[in-house]
Amino acid sequence: MAEECDGGGALAGLRGFVRAAVVSAASDWDRAGMLPEGILAELGRRGWLASFLEPAEGGVGLDMVAYGRLHEELGCGCSSLRCAVTAHDMVAVAVRRWGEVGQRQRWLSRLARGEVVGAFALSESGAGSDVSAMRTVARREGDRFVLDGKKRWVTNGLRAGVFLVFARTAEGAGAFLVPRDTPGLTLSPMEPLLGTRAVGISEVTFEGCRLAPEALVGGVRAGLRFVLPAALALGRYAIACGCLGMARACLDAAIEHAGRPSASGVSLSSHQLVCRMIARMVAGVRAAGLLCRACGASLEAGAPGSVPEAALAKYFASGVAREVTADAVQIFGGEGCLQGNIVERFFRDAKVMEIIEGANEVLELVIARHGIHEYLAMAGGEGRD
Ligand SMILES: Cc1cc2nc3c(=O)[nH]c(=O)nc-3n(C[C@H](O)[C@H](O)[C@H](O)COP(=O)(O)OP(=O)(O)OC[C@H]3O[C@@H](n4cnc5c(N)ncnc54)[C@H](O)[C@@H]3O)c2cc1C
Repeated sequence: MAEECDGGGALAGLRGFVRAAVVSAASDWDRAGMLPEGILAELGRRGWLASFLEPAEGGVGLDMVAYGRLHEELGCGCSSLRCAVTAHDMVAVAVRRWGEVGQRQRWLSRLARGEVVGAFALSESGAGSDVSAMRTVARREGDRFVLDGKKRWVTNGLRAGVFLVFARTAEGAGAFLVPRDTPGLTLSPMEPLLGTRAVGISEVTFEGCRLAPEALVGGVRAGLRFVLPAALALGRYAIACGCLGMARACLDAAIEHAGRPSASGVSLSSHQLVCRMIARMVAGVRAAGLLCRACGASLEAGAPGSVPEAALAKYFASGVAREVTADAVQIFGGEGCLQGNIVERFFRDAKVMEIIEGANEVLELVIARHGIHEYLAMAGGEGRD
């Protein structure tokens, strides 16, 4: 399924790279709690960072369906790596969509090459789902902004060279590009995670960080209204495709395991109840794949419903990933509980996907509102005929 689109050749070698360089190492990265130095730069060299950017911007011009495939394949190998790319790309898409010419020139090609790692800093303690509770502030001082506050859960935080930071201003919520070497910015690692352990997660504290006017992306009221939705639509789609990848990997592993004859010569797949699990896994993976492709096409077309479509794809695919990874652990039995087994790692990673980039309950609200809106628009149209 995933072979059908190679982004005009830009994804050539992707599957082989993931098999050779990612699958074999992902358990070690998970244990170490950190991706290896240079892995993002390696992806950048291959054109797989901010890959939706046009060649003139430093990217390889992947369309959104091919972009989904990239995330699916990375997701098959290592959720931490896929999450790191997603967070990085969310910064790039925000700069591309809402940045001024000077910001685009300064950051985009460096992000695409992996010379600088991007991190997306929105969540705070007590302000995750409820972004209106955000306490980080940027107050004007002459033509500058002074940033104070603390962000938590910043993927790539420990390696990032630039942070896209959301903060309150007197006029509204803004988004600011904050280089790592800004005086007053400090990083502290967080406790080890349940899943996606290698994403280099950190807290980031800003104490009197003085920012040049060109740090502001998209205007002083644009942070939550425009910059955030653009980044979240891409991020949720990428997570959906990553979830599809991890579900696919677990399905393959479970089928392979279930087909092996036991000491008595009977394979697990000869049991009907095991077959039922496999049937559900196949159905889930197939359905998530269709939703991801539809979402990619909708994003590519710039369709008005593509933002809720991305919420739907993330919601559905993360649920499938949770169920499929859990069933895979079940089919592996005790082996599936051992650290180092791919299904054990993906089982932990999948749970995280239901929480990040909009907890699934929050996405249910988005999906329901959009569904109701569509229904009413259709019913109104029918009424007028
Ligand atoms: C591994 C990892 C990586 C992350 N990376 C980043 C990152 O790079 N950048 C960043 O900014 N953040 C990041 N986050 C933070 C993540 O986005 C938040 O954890 C998430 O938005 C949930 O916020 P919260 O943890 O504050 O939980 P809360 O907002 O307290 O929600 C807890 C639970 O309450 C329920 N809930 C909350 N609101 C509602 C509602 N309105 N209706 C119904 N139920 C609701 C949901 O079940 C939810 O799971 C990351 C988190 C993790 C675990």
